[in-house]
Amino acid sequence: MRWFIAAVCLNMAASPGASAPAIPQPDKAELYRQAEVIGRALVQYLGAGYAFRIDFPHHLVYVYVQDKSTIQLAVAKILGIYADAEQAMLFHSPLQWNVTILIPKLEDYRRLVPLGDAAAGIYVPTLKILLTNGVHSSLIHEFTHALHHNDQALANQGHPIWITEGLAVLFQQSHPALGGTVQMEPGVRIALAKMTVQEGCALPLTELLHKDQPQFMQEAEICYPQAGALMFYLYSQDKLSSFYETYKANYGKDRTGELALTMVLGKDLKDIETDWRQWMLDLKIPRPPIGVVAFLGVKVQPTTNGVQVTSFSRSSSVEREGKIWINDIILSVAGQPTPTPQALQDAIISCPARSIVEIKLSRYGKKMTIQQLLGAAPVKEKPTHAPQTMPSLQGITQSTQPATTQ
Ligand SMILES: [Zn+2]
Repeated sequence: MRWFIAAVCLNMAASPGASAPAIPQPDKAELYRQAEVIGRALVQYLGAGYAFRIDFPHHLVYVYVQDKSTIQLAVAKILGIYADAEQAMLFHSPLQWNVTILIPKLEDYRRLVPLGDAAAGIYVPTLKILLTNGVHSSLIHEFTHALHHNDQALANQGHPIWITEGLAVLFQQSHPALGGTVQMEPGVRIALAKMTVQEGCALPLTELLHKDQPQFMQEAEICYPQAGALMFYLYSQDKLSSFYETYKANYGKDRTGELALTMVLGKDLKDIETDWRQWMLDLKIPRPPIGVVAFLGVKVQPTTNGVQVTSFSRSSSVEREGKIWINDIILSVAGQPTPTPQALQDAIISCPARSIVEIKLSRYGKKMTIQQLLGAAPVKEKPTHAPQTMPSLQGITQSTQPATTQ
């Protein structure tokens, strides 16, 4: 019940009314006072080694591990850029409340984020707190949720999950560009959406638009990419801002987003769907350069039950995403059993670099399945799937830095 304690800390910190759905005008001095109280309460709660810092213009409170201040600075810089860019592009109003960005020690992260939620980041709307285990694309995803939450509260609206997740996926795949803007890119999720269109398993738009949260989550592997791809389509047609504004203006008439789509794109949903599908099929998605091989970034030791994770490579996606834990036993990768380190290596390099694969794990005896993004490691020789010509797992995990953009 750690969350309960954290909630108490934050409730103590918040002044009356701070958690109400909308505050017309943020009182800057009051927000600043609250930010200090929140920062101090969380540092006290987390114990020795933590510090906090307030980004006053953006109303962000950073709570971080004191000797990891460089990571904190990187996060603060990136989130500052995204706060400005997303405000300019879509949300228009600054945060009316403080959002806390908590970057805890790995062990505290695992303690605070409920077991079974293997996410690398999480935004808790009731507490207006974002927890992240590092700098990676899920940080931008969750931060977009935080900004969007504020905007919905200001408008007294609750947007459907395809819009919420679609926007988060869109920004997650972008990178900061010159002039304080962000550049959108067709990343892994858009590539997945393209695959579903190619294979004929993309959802009809009317179905996607009407999904509630549980239905969306049931088909998460199709819904997330497709919602992101629809937002990416609007962005590419230079219609993202007008779609969002039209949607908000017509919220009373239609909450699904269909009306706004038809108004902004000037056709009915059936024609929009036809155009979107064709656009997806034509979309060029950058491929990884020749000479890369899939890379997981774990070091393992053989045990009687399978291979056990002993450490992670620095900056690998496994480390950043935090879904695989030290001492986990990896049972299979993409359906291939991995009883030995060699079998694990063979299974990984038979997958495409930067693809998302299903990994079956045993954690303290409990079996679970995760979706893990593989990195890409350069190889000196032409890549082949013949294991004997590949560098050893040790070599892959130690000598390379994956160039994952996702
Ligand atoms: Zn999300």
